[in-house]
Amino acid sequence: MQPFDYTALPGRVIFGSGTIARVPGALADLGGKRALVLTTPQQAAAGEQMLALLGAAGAGLFSGATMHTPVEVTEQALSHARQVGADSVVAVGGGSTTGLGKALALRTGLPQVVVPTTYAGSEATPILGQTENGVKTTQKGPEILPEVIVYDVDLTLSLPPALTVTSGINAIAHAVEGLYSKDANPVISLVAEDGIRALVSAIPRIVADPCNVEARSDALYGAWACGVTLGVMGMSLHHKLCHTLGGTFDLPHAETHTVILPHAMAYNAAAAPEALARVARAMGVADAPQGMWDLAKRLGAPMTLAEVGMPREGLERALQLALANPYWNPAPLEETRLRQLLEAAYEGRPPL
Ligand code: NAD
Repeated sequence: MQPFDYTALPGRVIFGSGTIARVPGALADLGGKRALVLTTPQQAAAGEQMLALLGAAGAGLFSGATMHTPVEVTEQALSHARQVGADSVVAVGGGSTTGLGKALALRTGLPQVVVPTTYAGSEATPILGQTENGVKTTQKGPEILPEVIVYDVDLTLSLPPALTVTSGINAIAHAVEGLYSKDANPVISLVAEDGIRALVSAIPRIVADPCNVEARSDALYGAWACGVTLGVMGMSLHHKLCHTLGGTFDLPHAETHTVILPHAMAYNAAAAPEALARVARAMGVADAPQGMWDLAKRLGAPMTLAEVGMPREGLERALQLALANPYWNPAPLEETRLRQLLEAAYEGRPPL
């Protein structure tokens, strides 16, 4: 057994179908009497429903959450929270909405109830990525971690199949990097492997039938397992690249993860053979990077950085940014190999 150093995170998790009905009680348990409900503009109707469910404990709705948590949006939400006298937040949505709730909690200490509707996993982490002047920075802290997660499978039925695929692969990326993390420990590695297994089994079933509640339930469990892994494990090259590409070139988050993941896995395959063998086992394939690329292709995911909006002339800048302030990575970061990785991802070639 390898030595390890692990601190578990606190937090309450309510999981099931129809569990949205438990939000008022969970909020009351936290002492919340006037919650600001957060959503994206696209999910404002879900926010109105939440407000109605909360009754007197709902102080108002801010439906301006957006990708990569821009500081200007957080400031608008903050002034809204002050206007309505909010003492807590209820975030209903994907990683963008969860991120806004975390940004408010960081600035105010308000307790958070998060109702995730994608597989991003942010709800289970003490990590916040924020964007200011086109630069995305990440910070970590106990005040950022949501106190309660309410997973309601029913709210994920409306997640479009395309976003289901990319968001699911985004979750898998957390588990893959958790398995080869320098912080890896045996318990979280089991969680990570099972998260991959659950998602790889569920996503094709959801694509075939988006309202398959059992498959949706498996995927949401997988997302939690992968989020738990992200919450406690240091991430490596894959997350660094996606973070740089997303923050600097405003690329869509889950799609970018989907394009990069097989290539980042291939980059690290020789340096982390045991972790990659566990990923392959969880996926039921012989070769994990190729298996991930094949899975994404079979499910109709975007396969090239070009199609998710990356300008070719930006590749060199992305490379230099990724090298400038790197995360720990199993394989050494070599400029030539990384350039090849980005070019393969740009063009959608199979992983090298
Ligand atoms: P998102 O939250 O931006 O959602 C994408 C779109 O799908 C939005 O328009 C949203 O309203 C819509 N949507 C979400 N759930 C839906 C549903 N069930 N039905 C219909 N539409 C739905 O996307 P995301 O990929 O979940 O989150 C991306 C953001 O999360 C990025 O900013 C990323 O940096 C952040 N993130 C942070 C962490 C962390 O630990 N800090 C982890 C993962 C992601």
